[in-house]
Amino acid sequence: MATIFTKIIKGEIPSFKILEDDNFYAFLDINPLAEGHTLVVPKNEVDYIFDLEDSILAQMNVFAKKIAIALKKSIECNRVGILVVGTEVPHAHIHLIPFKKESQMSLSSPKLNFSADEMVKIAEKIKIQL
Ligand code: AMP
Repeated sequence: MATIFTKIIKGEIPSFKILEDDNFYAFLDINPLAEGHTLVVPKNEVDYIFDLEDSILAQMNVFAKKIAIALKKSIECNRVGILVVGTEVPHAHIHLIPFKKESQMSLSSPKLNFSADEMVKIAEKIKIQL
């Protein structure tokens, strides 16, 4: 069965899209640890990130870097952290988290709550910097 991320990539479930190319799709995390918390996923559905082909894993990091640079320019933060956990959704993904406090890099920290309108505005200000 398709993962929720595959359904997002196919447009069957809505998302606040940041960027996509032939191989990857990036969108805002619906339960963000910080403003601008973004997920980068490969379009090819693979559960465990280290099962990805070497070239895809390398390209995924370069794709994530482009977004991290845009996040640093658009969101007030100390730096953009990367996190890979993957225990909730069995579809490899990188969390990009523009954090002010180190505690925001833990998935067990409290999540922020933005309205849909606010999420649209956050996505827009990130995309302008791409
Ligand atoms: P993990 O698999 O533990 O790395 O975390 C999965 C992440 O996916 C969590 O941070 C969720 O908030 C996020 N997530 C789950 N469903 C959606 C969705 N429909 N849209 C955006 N983010 C989602």
